[in-house]
Amino acid sequence: MVKNLCLLYTLKCNYKCAHCITRSNNRYRSKIGISSSKKIIRAFKKTGLKAVTLAGGEPFLFFEDMVKLVDFCRKNNLFVNIVTNAFWAEDINKTERILKKLNPKGKVNLYVSFDEFHYAQTKFEKYCRTYQIRYSKGIYLILY
Ligand code: SF4
Repeated sequence: MVKNLCLLYTLKCNYKCAHCITRSNNRYRSKIGISSSKKIIRAFKKTGLKAVTLAGGEPFLFFEDMVKLVDFCRKNNLFVNIVTNAFWAEDINKTERILKKLNPKGKVNLYVSFDEFHYAQTKFEKYCRTYQIRYSKGIYLILY
């Protein structure tokens, strides 16, 4: 029985980390898509699925898709984990807006990639912003 399904929603990524196991980069265009993702999730839900992890690539490059899939999972009583490099945390207002839209009712864990490879391509402040506002949006934030 699969309890946690990991969907590599896209291999598109705006970073190019030396250690990337999926070799993601900005040249990829494709994604699984909402309708296929729902079909896959529904199929595993019948066998006892409890949680869905959305990863990539960088899934926040398809933010509206993430909002829809989080909503779909919530309606199906599934926890959601999203792995992101936090590129979108440009300023505190934008970060707050994004997290609020993504997670209006809870049940989302946000895994923010935080290591020397990612750190070389972003600003530490972005991690701080996601960290600062996590509680008010009901998001569990995990730096890994
Ligand atoms: S941010 Fe993640 S998916 Fe993107 S290149 Fe780096 S390790 Fe790969």
